[in-house]
Amino acid sequence: MGSLRGALAASGIVKQEVVDELDEKDREEREKEFKKKVESMTSTGRFQSRKPNISRGPSSESPKKDRRADPEWQKRKEELKKRSEPFDLLWRGERSRKFMIHVLRTFLPPPIVKFVGDWSDKEFKSKNCCICKNESISLEDAIKASGEVAKAMVEAFPKMLDDPKYKMPDVMEGKKLAVQAPDSNAVFCAPCYREFIRWALFKSGVDNSLARVVSSVRKKYQKSKDNAG
Ligand SMILES: [Zn+2]
Repeated sequence: MGSLRGALAASGIVKQEVVDELDEKDREEREKEFKKKVESMTSTGRFQSRKPNISRGPSSESPKKDRRADPEWQKRKEELKKRSEPFDLLWRGERSRKFMIHVLRTFLPPPIVKFVGDWSDKEFKSKNCCICKNESISLEDAIKASGEVAKAMVEAFPKMLDDPKYKMPDVMEGKKLAVQAPDSNAVFCAPCYREFIRWALFKSGVDNSLARVVSSVRKKYQKSKDNAG
């Protein structure tokens, strides 16, 4: 759909059967490639604990007060504060804290988090990111999508996870790839998931009750890993 091949077939330049066959082959290839990439990203540590970025920059050499006077550092601090805001707000509310504890327990252990793909289309239609409320796209959708979208997504993944300012390409039509965990109905779009991990790791250094939750998740995860092998 919307591909060059499709246009060629529609205009009669190439036979539809040929296009179908090529599309099918491509789809299978893309599916394999895509799954491989996604699996390598989820299993090799792209979603493993990421150290909070705030500690980077002039640290050990320069004393703290110098840093505070540095406008660049101030700017960065403000930016990080803004990025943490949605999570801080949820953490502050009594009811929303319960939700946050739920997602910390279900989404923090990295290996169980998968890109959304197991739900049926119907189930998935109602799934918006639990933080930004944006519409998400499932892995299956991405695989089924036209070559252009699939290519853009594969290229966008690492950037989306690494660079907070990265804007998804327009072919995604505002949808973002989402992650899910087995014991939760919530989904996170990839950028919010990245922020969530950053927030949890950073904030647990300054918030005791969050630190307790994070450490209990870690212990449980470690135990299940030990039991597994
Ligand atoms: Zn989101």
